[in-house]
Amino acid sequence: MLRIAPTFTVATPTTLAEALALKATHGEKAALVAGGTDFVPNLKHGLHAPEVVISLGGLDELRGLDFGAETIALGALVGIHTLATDARIASVLPSLATAAGLIAGPQLRRMGTLGGNVCLDTRCVYINQSESWRSALGYCLKKDGDTCHVTVTGKKCVAAASNDTAPVLLSLGACVELASPRGVRTLPLEQFYVHDGARNTVLAADEILVRVLVPRPRETRRMAFEKLRVRGAIDFPLLNLALAFDLDADGVLTAPELVISAIAARPRRVRALPEGLLTDALVDRIAALAFDATRPLTNINADVEWRRDMVPVLVRRAFAAARGPQSPPFAC
Ligand SMILES: Cc1cc2nc3c(=O)[nH]c(=O)nc-3n(C[C@H](O)[C@H](O)[C@H](O)COP(=O)(O)OP(=O)(O)OC[C@H]3O[C@@H](n4cnc5c(N)ncnc54)[C@H](O)[C@@H]3O)c2cc1C
Ligand code: SF4
Repeated sequence: MLRIAPTFTVATPTTLAEALALKATHGEKAALVAGGTDFVPNLKHGLHAPEVVISLGGLDELRGLDFGAETIALGALVGIHTLATDARIASVLPSLATAAGLIAGPQLRRMGTLGGNVCLDTRCVYINQSESWRSALGYCLKKDGDTCHVTVTGKKCVAAASNDTAPVLLSLGACVELASPRGVRTLPLEQFYVHDGARNTVLAADEILVRVLVPRPRETRRMAFEKLRVRGAIDFPLLNLALAFDLDADGVLTAPELVISAIAARPRRVRALPEGLLTDALVDRIAALAFDATRPLTNINADVEWRRDMVPVLVRRAFAAARGPQSPPFAC
């Protein structure tokens, strides 16, 4: 059994100001934990070595769902289970409810939070391993080593963004609210993620994600989320994608957004998608563009050709789901 080395203290602030002061004092030596469903396994694998672990669980300011006329504000501590089962989320942001319902398994969804999912560390078959496994390989660029085992050049970490809410929130044009002792900044989610698997967000050492702000979708907006994984009951994505578009009464599609993830260090928006009458031919064109835009890597333990071949399949499934009733599947 993997154990946690007792080399750190745990702080349990009850206000955001207190948590920010702790983060400012300890900087990179302090780590944040929300539900702990990813942080704790990573701690056991020796991927983090904090001196202080700051538990966010007592910060009521980070809870709550606010359905405004223009914006839906989702607190960082809102649970994944809540996102998957809240009737208002299901009605207004059905693709988010679907994605949340497909994260991990029931127990993990009850512990996991939106903030932890948005800030989830990247994953790779060479890093999510025990310390002894990684040491036998000579470690890698992301932690303790100097080369990447996935790419030929070995100079850049390309571990996969594996958070299922990220492509959905990007497809919906969401922003993140980040608090620090310097104040609060609001950033489009597209600028939050960067192409570096070693650290794929711009979250500063003294910042905490407070809320995710989603513009309220127009009545004509249709949306869907699709995911490929080995075991439907629990696994991380091998590939996931989120689709959103407007559909008018004449069946004309406009403003399409398609975001594909679990491929590289950050989710990828497929750009310059065609608009027009929503026919099978249009769906096939968009599916082909998505295939062209996707180059899976050997960062995940699954055949890269299969993952790529599944891109157009998931795009077609997403269109079928988005054209049907906008209600997510049941999540327990
Ligand atoms: C078996 C298994 C299967 C899983 N399957 C999936 C899956 O299918 N899809 C998926 O998306 N995830 C999956 N996960 C990962 C995880 O359960 C979820 O991503 C969950 O939402 C993480 O939330 P958390 O609150 O537990 O995060 P934590 O583990 O507490 O934190 C995750 C990271 O986010 C940081 N963080 C947390 N909150 C904040 C904040 N407010 N501000 C700044 N940084 C913050 C932490 O420092 C840490 O780096 C799986 C995990 C396991 C163990
Ligand atoms: S992509 Fe390369 S550097 Fe990053 S975790 Fe995997 S092997 Fe390590």
